[in-house]
Amino acid sequence: MKCLRCKKRIGEEDIYCGYCGIHQEKYQKYLNRVSAKIHKDRDRAYEKRIRKIEFEVEQLKKDRIKEIDRIKNNRWEFIGTKSFSYNLTEGKININGSVYLFSDIKGAEITRQDSYRVVTTSTGKSKKHISLGGGLIGGALAGVPGAVIGGSVLGKTKSKGQSFSSSIPTCNHIGVNVNINGFVSEIVLLSGDVDQSSQICEKVFEIAQQIVDKLRYLSKTPVPKKYLKPEEEQSVIDIDNKIEESKIKLEDAKNDKPTYEIPKEYL
Ligand SMILES: [Zn+2]
Repeated sequence: MKCLRCKKRIGEEDIYCGYCGIHQEKYQKYLNRVSAKIHKDRDRAYEKRIRKIEFEVEQLKKDRIKEIDRIKNNRWEFIGTKSFSYNLTEGKININGSVYLFSDIKGAEITRQDSYRVVTTSTGKSKKHISLGGGLIGGALAGVPGAVIGGSVLGKTKSKGQSFSSSIPTCNHIGVNVNINGFVSEIVLLSGDVDQSSQICEKVFEIAQQIVDKLRYLSKTPVPKKYLKPEEEQSVIDIDNKIEESKIKLEDAKNDKPTYEIPKEYL
């Protein structure tokens, strides 16, 4: 190699130059410092360009994660409740957060419990306490998770007159029992008293029927032996390619480090 200062030929491993006596490594650092000082602007532009490309790479990596999530989520379809979904691409169902294969489904049936509530109406002077009655629907009816159903129900009545009681039919539980390899998992669609006169019971019952029909269909649908992983979908591969391009661009930018002729007075 050549001495960094006097340019005379010296040994590869030499720490000092035998001619001018300069410490090679320290002199290189010195040269770097001088270069940095006198060429701040170009160095700044260089750093800025690298940071910009690094940022690009980071953004693309985030896009990739988002795209994979989007593909994963898109494969799941819902029927009126978040407690049950199915995935035709991968041959899977999800019940209350647990995932099973179509072939694990051994049966499905609707569970329904009906009840009644008592309403007392009074004549004469009375003080009525209104309380909010009704039940909770466990995520049934898309977009209204846990909505409180039912109107005001008359509460305790203090009265000197006569009072009449009548019972109003309600449904207080609708769900689907799914037999998964002999174990039962329940998809709860409605829990709590809802008047049968309201349309809610029938609507939820319809959803239950749709879920049972779907489960019966899925239990006979073969589990796909092969399917693309989200990472293998074209949209993700496109992002992968962009990331590769940006990485090459980054390498090029890094190698394009400005070099300077240092003015003689510094040498
Ligand atoms: Zn030298």
